[in-house]
Amino acid sequence: MVDANDSATPPGVLPPRVRIAPSPTGDPHVGTAYIGLFNFVFARRWEGAFVLRIEDTDQTRSSRSSEESILGALRWLGIEWDEGPDVGGPHGPYRQSERLPMYREAVDRLLDDGKAYRCFCSKERLDEVRKIQMAERKPSGYDRHCRDLSVEESTARAAAGEGHTVRMMVPLAGTTQWIDELRGTQSFENRLIDDQVILKSDGFPTYHLANVVDDHHMRITHVIRGEEWISSTPKHVLLYEAFGWDLPRFYHLGLLRNSDKNKSKLSKRKNPVSIFHYRDLGYMPATFLNFLGNLGYSFGDDRERFSLREMIDTFDARRLSVGGPVFDPVKLEAFNGDDIRAMDAGALQEMLMKHCLSPERLGPIVAQAQERITRLDDFLPYVSFFYGGAVDYTQVEAKLRLKKRNKKEVIKIVEAFVQEIESDPEARGFEKAALESYARAFCERHGWKTKEIFTLLRLGCTGRTAAPPLFDTLAICGKDRVRMRLRGLVAFLKTMDDWGGESPAQGA
Ligand code: GLU
Repeated sequence: MVDANDSATPPGVLPPRVRIAPSPTGDPHVGTAYIGLFNFVFARRWEGAFVLRIEDTDQTRSSRSSEESILGALRWLGIEWDEGPDVGGPHGPYRQSERLPMYREAVDRLLDDGKAYRCFCSKERLDEVRKIQMAERKPSGYDRHCRDLSVEESTARAAAGEGHTVRMMVPLAGTTQWIDELRGTQSFENRLIDDQVILKSDGFPTYHLANVVDDHHMRITHVIRGEEWISSTPKHVLLYEAFGWDLPRFYHLGLLRNSDKNKSKLSKRKNPVSIFHYRDLGYMPATFLNFLGNLGYSFGDDRERFSLREMIDTFDARRLSVGGPVFDPVKLEAFNGDDIRAMDAGALQEMLMKHCLSPERLGPIVAQAQERITRLDDFLPYVSFFYGGAVDYTQVEAKLRLKKRNKKEVIKIVEAFVQEIESDPEARGFEKAALESYARAFCERHGWKTKEIFTLLRLGCTGRTAAPPLFDTLAICGKDRVRMRLRGLVAFLKTMDDWGGESPAQGA
């Protein structure tokens, strides 16, 4: 039972209803797990409900496969939701793309009440306004051109089928305030808040509107999310006020950071950020959760190692931290190693069988090895590069010195390969055929011979000169491992002396 006299009891309506609202636009991000963990623990501690909502209003970037990955990744970690797109619940649907009538109704209400207005400005006009603002070094934002259109004109133009968005009518003076439970009173001057688009011309809501409408209809009591949403919160508060709805309690946790000198925002350029990367390399879910738990929470008495159960049983939201927590892979590694050593040997063996030697994992690897081994015992040494993290490049250093390219060019092209793969919707899935056509198109686009790029990829991914067919190898190794190794290759290349290869373009 929730004990209201417990000093750790959070303020606000109890039992709580909390949520995470990931956007299904890519790989399941560790930030989603981090925020998910705290919402989950909060709900369990106070016997509330944890809702998983899919924010798929960006139709061009959202995909069902990304949604499935996010659900799969959270499930792997043991973060379980009570309501969501797969399990349903009393406040569904739980995908925003299926809730459009609710947003439409909300927008109509704001339009009727004069709290929002239609904007007929073209993209060209908005671009022009932005350009001028930039040239004059003025803060960017909509210049409120359509704000004063008469209701008659606005209605008539919409009725005649003229394309438009709907914007919120932000008060021109005064301040918008709310209390962040972790950070105290937050105050924003209204004149600096943009008349944000809330309904796009395609009839889809923007994040701000959908978020507020859903949090209200889903009866969310405590919004626990990352600090990157603080600057959006005044817009949300204004929307709650415009609708006449009660505010939830807000908790903005510190943003995860890279363990570099500048403590920059956690990014996939510096750190693997996909949850699957950690799963595939064999970090254990309970260990990973404990690691994430430490990032935003102090358990008390400097204790770093605690289980999810212990965290739930003793959770006190006042011990959530707002400082920029550093995602330190070295620490994660140490935690995982300690946990492996603490296991009973039989349990470890079972886990190894499941992780490394499961039929699903072995199947494609065996198919590759079959063509290339002559003795059964050669199997494990032969397939070792399909497992594990970094590979050693010292044996293949000479081969990395492409004759016609210098060191800088090689580094640049490897970096581009990894980066551009993300913008190719098919190659992103890392299937063999899609990867091959992406790689060939990449060579052509950059004016490199396929042989040059394929050599770099083979060496980068396996650390060997001879390996199974390249695209089978890349697909089996998986995106995260390949990305990590290519990053390792770049680091290795940087330590090499320049070999002064002559670029064909320069030499011609
Ligand atoms: N879709 C946002 C995200 O991806 C949700 C932010 C929020 O929790 O309000 O994190």
